[in-house]
Amino acid sequence: MKSIWEHTAFGGEHDLAVIGAGITGLFTAWHYRRQHPSARVVVLERGSHPAGASVKNAGFACFGSPSELLRDMDAEGMELALHRVEERWRGLIELRETLGDAAIGFEAGGGYELSRKHDPLYTRVAERFSMLNQALRDIFGQDVFSWADERASALGLGDAHLAWNPLEGAVDSGMLVRALLAKVQGAGVEVRFNAPVVAWEDGASGVEIHLKDGIVVKAARTVIATNGYARDLVPGTDILPGRGQVVLTSPIPGLPLKGTFHLDEGYYYFRDYQGRVLLGGGRHLDKAGETTTGEGTTPGIQEALQDLLRSTILPGQDFRIEQRWSGIMGFRAQGGPPVVAPLSPNVVLAAGLGGIGVAIGIRVAREAAELVG
Ligand SMILES: Cc1cc2nc3c(=O)[nH]c(=O)nc-3n(C[C@H](O)[C@H](O)[C@H](O)COP(=O)(O)OP(=O)(O)OC[C@H]3O[C@@H](n4cnc5c(N)ncnc54)[C@H](O)[C@@H]3O)c2cc1C
Repeated sequence: MKSIWEHTAFGGEHDLAVIGAGITGLFTAWHYRRQHPSARVVVLERGSHPAGASVKNAGFACFGSPSELLRDMDAEGMELALHRVEERWRGLIELRETLGDAAIGFEAGGGYELSRKHDPLYTRVAERFSMLNQALRDIFGQDVFSWADERASALGLGDAHLAWNPLEGAVDSGMLVRALLAKVQGAGVEVRFNAPVVAWEDGASGVEIHLKDGIVVKAARTVIATNGYARDLVPGTDILPGRGQVVLTSPIPGLPLKGTFHLDEGYYYFRDYQGRVLLGGGRHLDKAGETTTGEGTTPGIQEALQDLLRSTILPGQDFRIEQRWSGIMGFRAQGGPPVVAPLSPNVVLAAGLGGIGVAIGIRVAREAAELVG
């Protein structure tokens, strides 16, 4: 039973309501408020803090590894794939300029794609390596990737092939979201936590958003930015959830690893984090099982991650897994770029950022704010 005060102060009319306080939702609110400084803007987040992929990820500030980009080019065509790389690259620059490197814990450590010796994927990448650099030259004005196999043993990776990308970096995803939250709140946006949205209706007088506790938030316009959870509120969307599992090892004395590392078309990724190894991935081993919004880990994928640590990343080293977690990404069913599209006259969906959302999130959000505005 809610009072009249609760309904007027916390329900009531807003100019814009954004559902989901991840990178996309928070930047959407921020962009909109900058364009409409007197607008009443609210972000509705179901967690007690931003609780989606933006705080569960591996913190790669990246735009794609060679085998992943070649796969995208084959699947989607050169133009679409290159456009997405450019959006990620521009997004990365904007993200760093907007929040500041210190505030997001940015480390310009560079990134690598690792291939095991005799891996057929390595041969396929090597054959098209110059073509890939050539295709990316218009975006970056330079060759992005070069071979750096000679560094493998110093990084503790034994006899592996390494493709080096000096333009990649890493962020501290917790710091990033905290900095973003402070920026958004500082700009006058209300962010409401523990506010799960269960339904919405777009009518003649705007959008009615129903929260789980019975409060109805009214807004002239709404952006749904719930990414991997999009189907809960937009049942017909082609965005499917994709769970990613992550492990963090115990501290490894003298860990030589430095930078961010991709493997197998981006399906595995690892980096150093404060003297530990953070490793995630393995979703391709059970795509059907990992098409879920359920949090959790599975024995098969956890075993695969530990095998990779034992065989390739920390061979011969003692380690324990100290932490495990999962996060939910949103992928287009047929692959492809994020969706920023109207669902009804006053409601826009901005979701489906896939496995590389840190960089592109600010760009998707700008597009959503412009479209809904
Ligand atoms: C394990 C893992 C590793 C990753 N690693 C990287 C990486 O290294 N680099 C990279 O670029 N990308 C990475 N990604 C992808 C990246 O994290 C995402 O693309 C990006 O964070 C998506 O941001 P978002 O705001 O769209 O979604 P989210 O951050 O998921 O935000 C959606 C928000 O909506 C909220 N929500 C959902 N349903 C409701 C509801 N009904 N009512 C109210 N709120 C709701 C959720 O709680 C969540 O806070 C990774 C993702 C995962 C899961």
